[in-house]
Amino acid sequence: MFKSPELVTFKEINLADRANINVIEFAQDVPFSVKRIFYVQDIKAGETRGDHAHKELYECIIAQQGSFTVELKNNYFSQKYILDSSNQGLVAPPGHWITLENFSDNAVCMVLASDVYKEDDYFREYSEFVQWQEDLKKVTAVPFLDFKRCYQDLKSELDIAYETVINSGTYILGDQVEKFEKEFAKLCGVKHAIGVANGLEAIELTLKAWDIGQGDEVLVAANSFIATALAVSKLGAKPVFVDIENLSYNINPELIESKINSKTKAIALTHLYGQCADMQPIMYLAKKHKLKVFEDSAQAHGAEYRGMKAGSMADAGGFSFYPTKNIGAFGDAGIITTNSDDLAAKLRLIRSYGSTVKYHHEILGTNSRLDELQAAFLRVKLAKLPKWNTRKNTLANIYLTELANIPDLELPKVREGSNHVWHVFALRVKNSRREKLIQFLSENKIGYNIHYPVPIHLQKAYAELEHSVGEFPDAENFALQELSLPLDAYHTEDEVRFVCSKLKEFFAVPKLSFNMNSGMKGLLVEMNPAKYSQ
Ligand SMILES: *Cc1c(COP(=O)(O)O)cnc(C)c1O
Repeated sequence: MFKSPELVTFKEINLADRANINVIEFAQDVPFSVKRIFYVQDIKAGETRGDHAHKELYECIIAQQGSFTVELKNNYFSQKYILDSSNQGLVAPPGHWITLENFSDNAVCMVLASDVYKEDDYFREYSEFVQWQEDLKKVTAVPFLDFKRCYQDLKSELDIAYETVINSGTYILGDQVEKFEKEFAKLCGVKHAIGVANGLEAIELTLKAWDIGQGDEVLVAANSFIATALAVSKLGAKPVFVDIENLSYNINPELIESKINSKTKAIALTHLYGQCADMQPIMYLAKKHKLKVFEDSAQAHGAEYRGMKAGSMADAGGFSFYPTKNIGAFGDAGIITTNSDDLAAKLRLIRSYGSTVKYHHEILGTNSRLDELQAAFLRVKLAKLPKWNTRKNTLANIYLTELANIPDLELPKVREGSNHVWHVFALRVKNSRREKLIQFLSENKIGYNIHYPVPIHLQKAYAELEHSVGEFPDAENFALQELSLPLDAYHTEDEVRFVCSKLKEFFAVPKLSFNMNSGMKGLLVEMNPAKYSQ
């Protein structure tokens, strides 16, 4: 729960007999950016200093001169450190009680702090600190997502990313975008990645590059986020819906062929919730009917199908970095992946006014660029993605184990040979119990979401396509039952277990037991009246 303290060593430059310099490179040597520095000197021998703790502030304590000991402790950890060298610092993360003692005569204690002085960040009473830690451990609410946790964890790296870009003087299509594109292409195992403004335009621009437009049809799953279909509509082409398979909740390969006609130009499939669609039969059909295939991987950063990565299996793939996605920007951003040199070159033209040489426009393009600043932030997060995906898998497995025997829940299934990256933990609530359940989750301060309450073909925006209820029964049933539980790399295992225990409480099945005190002999059925009233 609390980060561990660490002793760090600074660079020492010895200028022979002239001077000795210690250099502290912030965020490299010290894992936070410094907002405040103070010195403590003329400390009386035998005195104790410190005796406080912080909720959020980091300190780095340095014996700038002389020596002293620092004790760091909390409910789970206790250690003493001797500081006696000016090229060493002790990083004390928040959540540690700090005591300084055994000062040598000439000791000067220098403290680097991650924030300005804030009285309400302090504990000065040990007993209050102990209580705070106990309270933190108790889960009383679970947010669906809490962006602040990630920001606080990555703050020093993000701050550097920000400064690097602002100082570079290049804010559009510079070094950061280029590096991010290379790194993202590597993650997906493709030749090219082309940064664009958002996930919707990743789809739209690719279909445009394939000259899809008026009179053309593109097959899409009936249950995705509207963007997949909307990208098709924006080009004047027609989205043709296909029902879903019940294993991955993605487009059902068996229903694709009956939708193909002479107008069909492409399949824009989705890897929904972080699991890939069943690509092998889909690619077979696409080849047979000479269709382009686009992988909408906006929820599947790093997902795998038979050893291949999302975004690398078809003609092109598109990703969104909307803040809630597996890696999210601090704003909008997207990227397109492909192995085709021609497509990549065309997309680079389209995204920036049809031009690669300034003021020379080869085609009528648009403005859909990934910002330098977002690219710099995304590079920081991309480096964490493998770790986050593993972490999410650990948390998902807690759900899968803990909720396994609840008859009214159908848990997500992972296709053999696939690697699910859990954009969300999407389960099905059966027997019309979803409404009551979400009310119960709200009462218990547990965040949830419904992805998505209305399938695309029944959205008002698509009324002109004249679809009706019952046309895509699997997608429609799914929309009535789907519920997404909190699952983020920054959730704790205790939080996930809290959600599980509440769900078990809600779905509590009647227990059979003897009532020994009633004087009656026989079986009594103990019901959980409030929760079992349907
Ligand atoms: C988020 C999302 C998009 C759209 O991405 P934006 O960056 O918000 O435009 C497209 N498809 C799917 C499946 C998504 O989840």
